[in-house]
Amino acid sequence: MAPEIEKVKVLIIGSGPAGYTAAIYAARAGMNPVLYTGGQPGGQLTITTDVENYPGYPDGIMGPEMMEDFRKQAERFGTKVRYGLVTKVNFNVQPHQVIVDDQVEIHADTVIISTGASAKWLGLESEERLNGKGVSACAVCDGFFFKGQDVAIVGAGDTACEEASYLANICNKVYMIVRRDEMRASQIMQKRVMNNPKIEILWNTETEEILGDDEVIGARVVNNVTKEVKELAVSGFFVAIGHEPNTGIFKDFINMDDSGYIKTIPGSTKTNIEGVFACGDAQDHIYRQAVTAAGTGCMAALDAERYLASKE
Ligand code: NDP
Repeated sequence: MAPEIEKVKVLIIGSGPAGYTAAIYAARAGMNPVLYTGGQPGGQLTITTDVENYPGYPDGIMGPEMMEDFRKQAERFGTKVRYGLVTKVNFNVQPHQVIVDDQVEIHADTVIISTGASAKWLGLESEERLNGKGVSACAVCDGFFFKGQDVAIVGAGDTACEEASYLANICNKVYMIVRRDEMRASQIMQKRVMNNPKIEILWNTETEEILGDDEVIGARVVNNVTKEVKELAVSGFFVAIGHEPNTGIFKDFINMDDSGYIKTIPGSTKTNIEGVFACGDAQDHIYRQAVTAAGTGCMAALDAERYLASKE
């Protein structure tokens, strides 16, 4: 049986701060948006604990609770929030065709991509178990909880250097775990960490295990040249080995950089395809904050509204 086709004005793909903010604006503008949540409803914030840097929450808020608030606010103005994963798109036709869960076919006048990015992880069992209990992939989000304490960070790119420097401002000591004898980061960022007396770089070092039952109490690392094993007494363990934008299904249509981040026309959320807009971490590898994602979500809804008005 051929799938049933639904026609929508604004289809929003993804349910992080960018997607829900786009939904709030699109719904209030009378565009009857439909939002598909994706496989992790609420996005990356649902795997963090306290969010203390989102304006408007003076006492902080738990990440999952904040995303519930976003969803309720979007639904209050009539957004249809649905659980489902977009599995295929065709942006070469107007209206744009989007398939959800390989079953539902949607024809959308405008599409707002807010599929976000996912942090890469080392893949250790202890890393998964202690995630949110001392293990984090975001120093800016969680560094504050380790004020005055000793922490470790894995990675040797610009993000790891930037986050190590950020942590050094807050923490007592930062071990930087680098798997090779050189860093990938730009020279200037490397110099910054090497010249910081609070940062100790452990070259040729890999993490065997993160230690602790209910919270991080240390990390066991091994030097991959000398095979020397050591335990670092740390209470925070940060992973900064890159992010992966969740943009794979759009790659045949949408212009992206080499890492898969969607290219938008500067100062807007417009992509190379008319009527398709991108916001949040799917197009931003630099700021990656809830509040910046929400800001670009608002921009995407306004861009979609103006686009639809220009077609009338
Ligand atoms: P990168 O891909 O540049 O670096 C990832 C780092 O993680 C590499 O050092 C890599 O090691 C290491 N790594 C990967 N997998 C593992 C693993 N399993 N175990 C241990 N280490 C691992 O990611 P970034 O997030 O740092 O940067 C992404 C992009 O964003 C870059 O283009 C960067 O320049 C840019 N950026 C720019 C900033 C700025 O200009 N202010 C700030 C932040 C990011 P190896 O080198 O051995 O492969």
